[in-house]
Amino acid sequence: MSQPQIQIPLDLPNVRVEKYEQTDKGLVITLVSTCTTAVCRQCGRTIDKFYGYDKAITLRHLPIFDRPVWIRIRPKRFQCPYCDKGPTTTQRCEWYEPKSPHTKAYENWILRELINSTLSDVSLKRGLSVECIEGILDRHIQREADWLAVPQLVLLGIDEIALKKGHKDFVVIVSGLTAQREKHILAVLPDRKKETVKAFLKTLPPRQHRSIRQVCIDMNEGYCNAVLETLPKAQVVVDRFHVAKHYRDCADKARKTEMKHLKKTLPESDYAQLKGVMWAFRKPWTALTEEQQVMLLLLFQYAPILKDVYVQREVLTGIFERRQSKAQAEQALTQWLERIKALGLECFSPFITTLDNSLTGKPLV
Ligand SMILES: [Zn+2]
Repeated sequence: MSQPQIQIPLDLPNVRVEKYEQTDKGLVITLVSTCTTAVCRQCGRTIDKFYGYDKAITLRHLPIFDRPVWIRIRPKRFQCPYCDKGPTTTQRCEWYEPKSPHTKAYENWILRELINSTLSDVSLKRGLSVECIEGILDRHIQREADWLAVPQLVLLGIDEIALKKGHKDFVVIVSGLTAQREKHILAVLPDRKKETVKAFLKTLPPRQHRSIRQVCIDMNEGYCNAVLETLPKAQVVVDRFHVAKHYRDCADKARKTEMKHLKKTLPESDYAQLKGVMWAFRKPWTALTEEQQVMLLLLFQYAPILKDVYVQREVLTGIFERRQSKAQAEQALTQWLERIKALGLECFSPFITTLDNSLTGKPLV
């Protein structure tokens, strides 16, 4: 029985579809360029003397309904009537780079996939080798943003990704959002240094300066300063996910330290009762099973400081979740800070330093 069919625009300029076929590798679409000229590689003049076709190339393109799509094309060649010995030039199409095995649309999609994901995550999800994704990054890193092609943006995002899970090798992805919530990748920067981010932000054209209202970053002081110094009118927004990660990491570190200590001091059978307590410790009280609650209470008996850490972590989450005015939030945070000080919970110190700076509004150094 034949399946219902639909038609989807190909969204590639100046081509005609010669055929498409289903293969076990996916959908293969054979295209022919409808452009009838090229630019002579020697003299730079536009030439239109057709000289034949190059060998076919196959480029990976955006998947359709989760099926891989391949574009096959034989690039056209043209001969120059002006240059000595009539050199030939291969035509360039705007939708792929001469040395890339993918179309530009496909590479931009993979770059978007890298936001908040590592290379190995994307490699697994999209069936591409890590080397292949590195190749895509290399082709896009440090390349200047084509500002003419980017519509007016209202929000910028600065995200970092680890090139390999658990490694300290990071690149920074700068993306932009239009008022219509369309997302654009603007740059992949080679490192997390403030100067690198600042140098990129300086390339923003004036019309973008005027329209960008907010810049979303994680709790990185370098990014914050880079934004304050280049886009003074934009509001810096620290992504809540990153704020939460920051103080939750502090609490987790305290748990690890105490557990290490308990492992040395508790009889083995007592320590064994705490197996899996990490998961309980990471969750809010109401999300725990009765069994987990009992285990967590046992942990608090052995290491009372962890009870304070746990409770204060949850109090802080409560402050961030509550709907309230800025003044109310500031007051709640100040009270929280005082309590932490009174309890002597030093594990939150790294978080507090950053928070203090943003509360007093002084530029983070
Ligand atoms: Zn020429």
